[in-house]
Amino acid sequence: MKAHAIMIALPYQGHLNPFVDLATKLASKGITVTFVNTEHAHHQIASSQEIPDAGLDIFAAAALDIRYATISDGFPLDFDRDLNFIEYWESFLRDFPSRVAEFVGDIISSSDPSMPPFLVSDTFAAWPAMVAQKFGLVNVSFWTQPATEFAINYHLDLLKQNGHYPPTKDDEQMINYIPGVAPISTKDLMSHLQESDVTIVQEIVFKSFKEVVKADFILHNTVQEVEPHTLSVLNQKQATYAIGPINFSTKCSVPKSLRHQVDCSEWLEARPHGSVLYVSFGSIAQTNRQVIQEIAHGLVVSGVSFIWAIRPQIVMDDDGDVLPCGFEENVKDRGLVLQWSDQLSVLSSPAVGGFLTHCGWNSILESVWCGVPMICYPILYDQPTNRKLVVDDWKIGINLCDGESVGKEEVAEKINKVMSGEASDCIMKNLKEMRTKLHDAWKENGSSQINFDRFLRDLNDKI
Ligand code: UDP
Repeated sequence: MKAHAIMIALPYQGHLNPFVDLATKLASKGITVTFVNTEHAHHQIASSQEIPDAGLDIFAAAALDIRYATISDGFPLDFDRDLNFIEYWESFLRDFPSRVAEFVGDIISSSDPSMPPFLVSDTFAAWPAMVAQKFGLVNVSFWTQPATEFAINYHLDLLKQNGHYPPTKDDEQMINYIPGVAPISTKDLMSHLQESDVTIVQEIVFKSFKEVVKADFILHNTVQEVEPHTLSVLNQKQATYAIGPINFSTKCSVPKSLRHQVDCSEWLEARPHGSVLYVSFGSIAQTNRQVIQEIAHGLVVSGVSFIWAIRPQIVMDDDGDVLPCGFEENVKDRGLVLQWSDQLSVLSSPAVGGFLTHCGWNSILESVWCGVPMICYPILYDQPTNRKLVVDDWKIGINLCDGESVGKEEVAEKINKVMSGEASDCIMKNLKEMRTKLHDAWKENGSSQINFDRFLRDLNDKI
């Protein structure tokens, strides 16, 4: 099929990873792709690879028709986008869309007119509907979290009608009226729906869901067999395609890490099968010093071997050493502490037998793909709802703590439960079944393969 996908990425690891994989998948099907990173994201990837910005085309080794470009987000490279999250996102909502429109206009005017262009955007982007309308483009929205959360965001009106948003009552209540979504407690909703203040996060999500109703096609990084009912109900509203896990749909290896990844392979090779716990809280979530310290003490008490990927800014307003004094020395024979790992290769190692995770959706998909049971410690955004799916619905993981607070004894107990294999046969059986669903989805005649081809046919009819 002759067509040209214009893809402008969101500069966050959990969004960038599947977006890059979607680009390679589209290109592997013969579609020309222009993939655009922000200059800052590009700079971070180049720095993590220790190569100059100008020398990096992340798709160079992919041998596919993908043109790589960068766009300014309006801030200098040394502007701290995490520290100034509100200012950054206000500008992203207010100023960036017109910048994107100009950029897309330039791409279109310099492209081969025999290749009809179309737009592929992350659902959280603020520009798709405006840009698509301005240039008469087909508008494809890509959702990088479970379909369950898409459906909940999609039905904000129902939450409002039923008095569940803004949240007014402290007590927990059940929500059983979202079409296609299993009953869910208010405490398991995504964090932006549990807060009554309208912060920049609410603005981003609410705006994107006002926009997404104008999309022509919606791609979900989930699997038909994992969320069948939710997806089929969503499909009654808008053209919906489950094409996950896109992360494993091609064999192309494209550099996309925004931080330098420490290679743990040698360390892991020396460890017995299933003996290592991997700990990571993803790329954005921040917690407090006390939680980190309790987890560290819990790791000491548990006696298990572990790799802990702990980012420098994991604790809010604290750039100092957040681990207990002498921790690394104490566990040096069995613990590896680093800032950022090559997570997928860690999880793929036979030595890894458990994952203490914040429940980011990519982390969950990667863990299931590798058959690693999870210990869940959700912090914010989609993570509380993802925890509910993993622990309560799919039963492929356990909670780190069953009460409100994190205590080292409970941490050690939960770690030992999973690492001793005593996490129950039931969890391992369910995990194996879900892993098979994920692996089968991209096999020949697998549901994601079929859905992707169906999407391409429908796209072809529309452009
Ligand atoms: N990741 C990584 N190294 C790390 C931690 C995370 O490469 O030390 C990757 C991980 O494999 C995943 C992504 O970063 O693909 C994080 O996405 P996720 O949706 O799990 O969480 P988020 O960072 O968006 O909260």
